[in-house]
Amino acid sequence: MLREKLRVRIVVALFIVTTFVSAPLSALGQKASPVAPNRAQVEAVVREAYDKFRSDTSGKNADYIPYLAQVDSKLFGVAVVTTDNQVFTLGDIKYSFSIQSISKVYTLAMAMEEIGADKVFDRVGSEPTGRAFNSVFAVADMPSHTGNPFVNAGAIATTSLISGKNADEKWNKILDFYGRVAGEKLTLIDEVYKSEAATNTGNKALSMLLAKYERIYADPFESVDIYTKQCSVGVNVAQLARMGATLANNGKNPATGEQVIKAEDVPYILSTMTMAGLYDGSGGWAWHVGLPAKSGVGGGIVAVVPGKGAIAVFSPRLDEAGNSVKAQKVIEYVARKLDLNLFSPRSVGLKGE
Ligand code: GLN
Repeated sequence: MLREKLRVRIVVALFIVTTFVSAPLSALGQKASPVAPNRAQVEAVVREAYDKFRSDTSGKNADYIPYLAQVDSKLFGVAVVTTDNQVFTLGDIKYSFSIQSISKVYTLAMAMEEIGADKVFDRVGSEPTGRAFNSVFAVADMPSHTGNPFVNAGAIATTSLISGKNADEKWNKILDFYGRVAGEKLTLIDEVYKSEAATNTGNKALSMLLAKYERIYADPFESVDIYTKQCSVGVNVAQLARMGATLANNGKNPATGEQVIKAEDVPYILSTMTMAGLYDGSGGWAWHVGLPAKSGVGGGIVAVVPGKGAIAVFSPRLDEAGNSVKAQKVIEYVARKLDLNLFSPRSVGLKGE
């Protein structure tokens, strides 16, 4: 009888501990960041943002890739993954959308791993173009021609740096790498690939233009094809958040513990995301949000909070620059409420009072 009572007490105590004592957002291994908001705060703010913007219908699906035009524009999912692999998700979290331009982040990481960051910087550069992501003018005008690894021209050039005996070997290496960053195997959405491959004359033109300037480093059309495949990889919002959390965690996947991206390369990747992650919306994003992020025309955006975690949002309606409208609003709301803006001393706990 006494024992029974003791057992009940232990169970009740455990329940109280697990329910009310939230783990900090960035318990890096055993060490918790002193400035990280706790789990309960994060959940409450993300939920608030989700409810606030749920019925927002501004923007429209990308339609230059026919498949994307018919994706249900009401789909809406949010995921947070922390550097200690706590996961919090809301909404349409099972749906696999195409990663699109967010893939460029991870091909950049691979290229740096293969030939070193300095060579990638020489061959691609990292200057914002101030133009649309698929701009031909930027290629013609910019001294580097490639611009940076996140506009289409620079991204195709970056993909062309990946080594392999043939196109298949290069592509399989890329797909495998993305899977290791996400912590689980990822696959190509074949219909997206076919739809994009049938309509990507603009990207082929960019690639040939780069060839004219000797700024593409493998066969121009093969490189566009591999690039088109990498853009057609499917991810759900939690997988995307974990891909961001791997960057937040210095290149080490928080779920598998694998050091997938070299820690020394992470600052190069995050600085490029800050300057060019949302194309010609990047300046406004840095002003309002202050977090390295990357968008894709599939409707995903992932934002990285170094040392703490990442937030990914999926919602297909885009603004003029090609960035998901709802994803931007949710991330901005969460970043403000939780003081995540990296340019603000508040992000490291200086509240100013
Ligand atoms: N695959 C798309 C393209 O090449 C990627 C662009 C994007 O997501 N912004 O146009």
